[in-house]
Amino acid sequence: TAPDQLTGTVVAVQANFYQVQLDDRAVRLLCTRRSRLQKIGQKVMVGDRVRVVEPDWTDQRGVINEVFPRETELDRPPVANANQLVLVFALAQPPLEPMQLSRFLVKAESTGIDLCVCLNKKDLVSATERQEWEARLQGWGYSPFLISVEQQAGLEALQKQLNDRTTIFAGPSGVGKSSLINLLIPQAQLRVSTVSGKLQRGRHTTRHVELFSLPNGGLLADTPGFNQPDLNCDPLTLATYFPEARERLKQGSCRFGDCLHRDEPDCVVRGEWERYPHYLDFLKSAIEQLEAREQTT
Ligand code: GDP
Ligand code: ZN
Repeated sequence: TAPDQLTGTVVAVQANFYQVQLDDRAVRLLCTRRSRLQKIGQKVMVGDRVRVVEPDWTDQRGVINEVFPRETELDRPPVANANQLVLVFALAQPPLEPMQLSRFLVKAESTGIDLCVCLNKKDLVSATERQEWEARLQGWGYSPFLISVEQQAGLEALQKQLNDRTTIFAGPSGVGKSSLINLLIPQAQLRVSTVSGKLQRGRHTTRHVELFSLPNGGLLADTPGFNQPDLNCDPLTLATYFPEARERLKQGSCRFGDCLHRDEPDCVVRGEWERYPHYLDFLKSAIEQLEAREQTT
């Protein structure tokens, strides 16, 4: 690339200034946006891949003159090009609720972004209990990382998974997401909820998000994603958000193309898999929400 053809990633946005981490140099430039981009309504988000021109190396300034097409776009937090979601749950305190975990999994699957599961606070449960959860999750189609932020245990495998990716953590409150982010990116310093359980949302309420570089490459958002997902999805695609159902649909197909996998004849999805009742439960609310929406329009 010519010296004035630089590319990079937007790692922070503040008003109309964009902090751009350049690809080929360990340098960040504080950039403005070409007014042409403003005129065509081209938004610039954290995570955007951009072209930077007119670099001023002395003052570390530059101008964004092109935003490359986004591969993914998340709303909460507002991040472009994230290519990994890590769902963080705790094995205890708060107790691991299968239905809640399922709800997060389905929500995460519906974004289309690669997904993995991390079960924290393994220090609080017995080895048997850990193994039971691990096996259970494997039955659901996931291979969870079992970690303890407190004891700094089991982190190597997770860190490896973060290499060279742009990752967002998500999960319910109190499971240790902030503690984990702080451990992985000491500069982030999120507030950790106190033992009393009272959450200090602090910077989270501002919807501020910043991407931090991880030591071995890769970016991590300093803000967790959805922590109370509402499943607002199409009843007809819901099953594809369950790896167990996907597997069954790979082996064969239902008689009807628009099968909802409830009581239709010759359905390959309906069966004795553990989360099938979760599927039915989510399907029911997806249908109800759809009907409610149709009534208001
Ligand atoms: P968040 O709401 O998901 O961001 O959770 P926090 O990071 O605020 O942590 C909630 C509570 O769990 C805090 O009191 C942490 O100190 C505690 N915690 C985090 N990780 C662990 C762990 O691995 N083991 C134990 N026992 N406690 C942890
Ligand atoms: Zn079916």
